[in-house]
Amino acid sequence: GLTGRLQGVFDKLRGKGKLTEEDVSEALREVRLALLEADVNFKVVKDFIAKVKERAVGQDVMKSFTPGMVVIDIVNKELTDLMGGTHTKLAKANKPPTVIMMVGLQGAGKTTTSGKLAKMLQKQNHKPLLVAGDIYRPAAIKQLQVLGEQLKVPVFSMGDQVSPVEIAKNGLQFAKDNNNDYVIVDTAGRLHIDETLMDELKNVREAVGPHETLLVVDAMTGQDAVNVAESFHKQLELTGVVLTKLDGDTRGGAALSVKAVTGCPIKFAAMGEKMDALEPFYPERMASRILGMGDMLTLIEKAQAGIDADKAKEMERKMRNAEFTFDDFLEQMEQVKKLGPLDQLLDMLPGAGKMKGMKDLKVDDKQMGRVEAIVKSMTKEEKRKPEIINANRRKRIALGSGNSVQDVNRLLKQFEDMRKMMKQFSGMMNPKAMKNMKK
Ligand code: GDP
Ligand code: MG
Repeated sequence: GLTGRLQGVFDKLRGKGKLTEEDVSEALREVRLALLEADVNFKVVKDFIAKVKERAVGQDVMKSFTPGMVVIDIVNKELTDLMGGTHTKLAKANKPPTVIMMVGLQGAGKTTTSGKLAKMLQKQNHKPLLVAGDIYRPAAIKQLQVLGEQLKVPVFSMGDQVSPVEIAKNGLQFAKDNNNDYVIVDTAGRLHIDETLMDELKNVREAVGPHETLLVVDAMTGQDAVNVAESFHKQLELTGVVLTKLDGDTRGGAALSVKAVTGCPIKFAAMGEKMDALEPFYPERMASRILGMGDMLTLIEKAQAGIDADKAKEMERKMRNAEFTFDDFLEQMEQVKKLGPLDQLLDMLPGAGKMKGMKDLKVDDKQMGRVEAIVKSMTKEEKRKPEIINANRRKRIALGSGNSVQDVNRLLKQFEDMRKMMKQFSGMMNPKAMKNMKK
C-alpha cells in the first residue's frame, strides 16, 4: 500500500547520514510514483511534488542535522495541507434545528453514515432526528428504522408513496415540533449520476435549506470518488465530504485528492460498518497515518500524560534557544524514565531508532546512575556550558565520579548529539505542533 511504499522511500533517506540533492530528487520521484499508484489525481501529484521541492530547497535540507527527518516533515506538512490543513467542523444553525442532507451514489454508505452521525450527535447531548428520504431502494426505510431503534434515535418516515421533497419538509416540521436540534435527511442514490436524481436532490435542498450538504463517497473507488465529488459539487454546492470504507484496502487516493480537486473539505471518515466507526476527519492525523507515523500520536499522548506541562514548555523553550544544559539533561532522563521503557518509546518515534546517536541513548537504571554521577561531578558552569569541558576537566570529572575518561567522553558526545537533534526536533515537536496533531 501507499504507507508501505512511502516508508520504504523514507527508510532509505533515514539510513543515510548525509543526503545529496540527488538523494532527495530520487526520493521525491519515488514519492510521486507511490502517490500515482495510490490513485491520487495526476495534477494533484504534480503540484504536490513541486511544493515539497520548493519547501525542501527553502529549508536547506542538506545542511540540517537529520536531513531525512526534515524531508519527511516537509512531506507530512504538505500532505496535511493537501487535505485541507485543519479539521473542518460540522456547521451549526444559529437557530436550531441544524439540517444535514446526506447525498451520494447508491451503496456509498449514506444510510449507515446517517445512523453514525446521529449516534455521534447523541453522544454530544444533542437530539437528532433521522428522516427517511429514500423511497426507491427496497427496504431503505426499514434499514433506517432499524438503525434508529438500535440507537434510540427517532426516525421520521412517510412511507414510499410520498415525494422525498414532502418527506423532507414534513420531517423538518416534525423536528421543530419535537425539539430535535439536528435533522439528518437520508436520500436516495443511483448507481451513476443522472439528471433525475440531481433534480430531485436539488428540490429537496430547496425545500429544507440544509446547513450541511454532505456527500458520502466510497474511498475504495479512488479517482472515481473524486469525479463523483466534482459533479455533485457542481450541482449541489456541497459543504463537505464523508469518506467511507477507509477500513478496507483503499489506496488512499481519494482522501488525498478530494479537497484539492473540489475545494470541499472532508469532514468525516468512516472506517467500518458498526455505528461507532465514524471519526471527525483530521488532515494532520490522516497524513501521519499515510506516512506510517500513526504511533507518533500515541507517543505524544503518552508524553503529555506523563510529563509536567509547564516543565515541558520550559524545556521546549530551552531547546529552541539551545540553552539546554546538563541539569536539563538529567531532568529529561528522569521524565523519560517515568514514561516507560525507552526502547519502546524510541520505536514509536519514526526513524528515531535508526538515527545517529539515538541507539546509544538507551538508558537502563545502571547507566542512569552513571550518567547522574558524571553530571553531578561537573561544576555549575560546566553543566551550563559543556563546551568548556576540556581534557583536564574531563579527567577531573572522571575521577570525581568514579568513571573512566572514555565514559565521560561518551556522555559529552551523546549530549552534544542530543542537543543538535533537539534543535532539529523542536520545530516538529513543539507544543503547538503537538496540539495540532492531537486535535
Ligand atoms: P447507501 O446506499 O449510500 O445508503 O449505503 P448504505 O449505508 O446502505 O451502505 C452500503 C453498504 O456499505 C452497507 O453494507 C454498509 O454496511 C457498508 N458500509 C457503509 N460504510 C462503511 C464503512 O465505513 N466501512 C465498511 N466496511 N462498510 C461500510
Ligand atoms: Mg441508503
